[in-house]
Amino acid sequence: MKVTEIMKQKLCFSFEVFPPKSENPIEPLLNTLDHLYKFDPDFISCTYGAGGTNAGRNVEICKAIQDSGKSTAVTHFTCIGNSKEKIAQELQAYLDRGIDHILALRGDFPKGWKETRGDFNYANELTEFIKENFPKFCIAVAGNPEKHFQADSFDTDTTHLRIKQDSGADFIMTQLCHDVNQYQWWVEKIRKAGVSIPIDVGVMPVLVKDPTIRMAVSNGSAIPRDLAEIIGRYGDNPEDFKKAGMEYTIKQIHKFINAGIDGLHIYSLNKWKDISDIVNEIGIRKIQE
Ligand code: FAD
Repeated sequence: MKVTEIMKQKLCFSFEVFPPKSENPIEPLLNTLDHLYKFDPDFISCTYGAGGTNAGRNVEICKAIQDSGKSTAVTHFTCIGNSKEKIAQELQAYLDRGIDHILALRGDFPKGWKETRGDFNYANELTEFIKENFPKFCIAVAGNPEKHFQADSFDTDTTHLRIKQDSGADFIMTQLCHDVNQYQWWVEKIRKAGVSIPIDVGVMPVLVKDPTIRMAVSNGSAIPRDLAEIIGRYGDNPEDFKKAGMEYTIKQIHKFINAGIDGLHIYSLNKWKDISDIVNEIGIRKIQE
């Protein structure tokens, strides 16, 4: 079933994983997936390195998810350094493997790049290309509740999101946002601007201090006072930090659910044990043995 159909019926629940580097084995991630399937996720998305750096491994992992029969695979895909011809080949390869859900992204520029160096400059162009030439795909696009860090204003970023919808996007997957009030403000803003497609909210679990800070800063996301307090109080003690961070994450998830969302997407960071503890605690899915 298409993810957008699920969203019409209930709160969609999903995970994100990232593929291993080509020189590393895939078995640990397959084992992680086996643990995540136990929560009966509606889909599992797999990241794609800008410039296709891990394209092969991404396809392997998406195929494993799809072939498991236990979830739907959603592949991330970027247009960085990609020609139309190569994109068409890669999209067909996904469809040939039964993978018909895609997150259409521009991608982050590799160090020193100021443009995509490919045939598409923005995600809306990729979205339009997919819609026109590969209509079997259900297409997600990225949304930024705190505005994309390169956008001059919320107004222009909202206009660009509306263009992605009008180019054929079926739903939005959000960038991490620790501030639920800010998320609600943004939803109101984009709805007023005519963005009406469902929103799948991405939650980044707070587990380790340095990556928590790094990921927020690199995406232009705020660290709210209560999270800053955890960093200040437990930053030198990884165990206490994780415990407080997990409690914080569980509270955030409840706040998002209460705010009324179409989907909850947990960035699993490939850490099935911590993620299982969080999901068990939020109680929205019981383990299926
Ligand atoms: P766009 O929508 O193209 O927007 C990029 C910037 O350009 C924005 O500032 C926007 O306002 C502006 N813009 C958009 N359209 C236009 C236009 N037509 N004219 C002028 N300006 C425009 N990156 C990866 O490399 N691999 C991944 O797997 C990955 N997964 C992600 C998953 C999620 C859920 C999210 C939210 C992001 C992910 N990213 C990933 C990061 C993403 O690639 C970056 O945020 C990137 O900088 C922007 O991608 P985008 O698709 O939002 O770009």
